[in-house]
Amino acid sequence: MISRYQDLGWGVSCIEAGFQRPGLAGCYLLLRDGEAALIDTGTARTFPNILSLFAEKGIDRSQLRYVIPTHVHLDHAGGAGQLMAHFPRASLVVHPNGARHLIAPEKLAAGSRAVYGEADFQRHFLELLPVDEARVITAQDGLELELGNSRLTCIDAPGHARHHIVIHDPASGGLFTGDTFGIAYPELTTKAGPYLLLPSTPVQFDPEGWHRTLDRLLAIAAKRVFLTHYSGIDQAPQHAESLHQQIDAYVDIARGAAGQQERYPHLHQALWEFHDARLDRHGCRLDQSQRRLLLEMDIGLCAQGLDVWLQRQAG
Ligand SMILES: [Zn+2]
Repeated sequence: MISRYQDLGWGVSCIEAGFQRPGLAGCYLLLRDGEAALIDTGTARTFPNILSLFAEKGIDRSQLRYVIPTHVHLDHAGGAGQLMAHFPRASLVVHPNGARHLIAPEKLAAGSRAVYGEADFQRHFLELLPVDEARVITAQDGLELELGNSRLTCIDAPGHARHHIVIHDPASGGLFTGDTFGIAYPELTTKAGPYLLLPSTPVQFDPEGWHRTLDRLLAIAAKRVFLTHYSGIDQAPQHAESLHQQIDAYVDIARGAAGQQERYPHLHQALWEFHDARLDRHGCRLDQSQRRLLLEMDIGLCAQGLDVWLQRQAG
């Protein structure tokens, strides 16, 4: 059973975002010397969980200094507008390429409505509220943020999206990686550890950029990574190697589908074969239908992302 939030130590709490199913998406509260930051926001539906955590911990709304979506995909940034409206002293910290989408979210909302349809958009995201431009800090690579006596560093992190930052937090020895360090659902963890899946979500999959980003993150020698999907994992170097391999495998899968008339079904099937084989080697005991229940949405998005990447390669 996944609770509404878990304290992970070092002043870090993982908050259940309530998106799709418990354990799919989270966001993080950092509390340091009376000052708070939220890394990722979940959706507008996550907001009540965040408020109840603040109440439970006795944190006043004025103590929240930063709202930091790692990137502007809606499971990470969909709740930014609501949070900024209710936390009057907070600044929004966002990648320069993402800022305009949260200041004027109409385009982001229209894109998501097109993908999800109106009913599902309402169900998952409710609405996207605009953020006052005067309260936005654009996170250039290397930007440092003071939080109590801690210092957070924002790192430009292309690969999954060109509007992605990773936040380094020396106090916890951790990197808050959004989707850059893969996704690892608790149901897929075995004796071999968490199962990391590379999300090549449309529309900005960038294999070379992703390799470079992983190398940069590894050079920081962080002790742990905090994933949005889902919670903290240790042994970053071992997992980085697996992600490097997946990037190359995805590129091979994409190239293998390049000549097909109907590319999407080919990509979809090839990605499933790839992950089914890896899951078997990982010691995953879930059967086909259980795996599909957990991963079909992600595999579908990965296939779309590779399709878009192939189109871009073709110029
Ligand atoms: Zn994403």
